[in-house]
Amino acid sequence: MTEQELEAISARAEAATPGPWHKEYADGADDRPQVWVTTTDGDAEFSVGPVHYVTHQTQHDGQFIADARTDVPALVAALREAQSTIARVAAIHRPYGIYEECGHDHEPDEPGVTEVDDVGLVCAEGKMYDICGSCCAHDFEGGQDAECAENHAHAKGEAICDTFAALHVASVKSDGA
Ligand SMILES: [Zn+2]
Ligand SMILES: [Zn+2]
Ligand SMILES: [Zn+2]
Repeated sequence: MTEQELEAISARAEAATPGPWHKEYADGADDRPQVWVTTTDGDAEFSVGPVHYVTHQTQHDGQFIADARTDVPALVAALREAQSTIARVAAIHRPYGIYEECGHDHEPDEPGVTEVDDVGLVCAEGKMYDICGSCCAHDFEGGQDAECAENHAHAKGEAICDTFAALHVASVKSDGA
């Protein structure tokens, strides 16, 4: 779910009469009992409205509508928290490029050109693969660990680490470095 969709759901919830809502029973105009969704518990203030005449199904419908008033904001909050946790973990396990010389004569301020230790100025063509900046490069500071260089099977297009692979869902965007 995109942030835009989440915003829209949240806005609809905020625009509705404040909760909690409740399922109540009250007689309709023709004195037949109806399922109502109310904004007060056990009071006669039926500001949300009747669901339908009482049947087994409309009792469930009324309960669902009433609970949606508090369930929806709770679900939005829970999803936001989960997405923010995913984003924080993804920010730690992000790609760190491993380069070889690209064979071009680059200037330091050229767009898309970076200075890499032991390689020099290099463009995207010199990138061999990405490793994980956390699992394989000591928090991006010290370059590729010996452990990674000797034991990890990294390749272009492969997940940079198991954590990155596990997080690689639609809601996560790597910075593509
Ligand atoms: Zn180049
Ligand atoms: Zn990692
Ligand atoms: Zn590695």
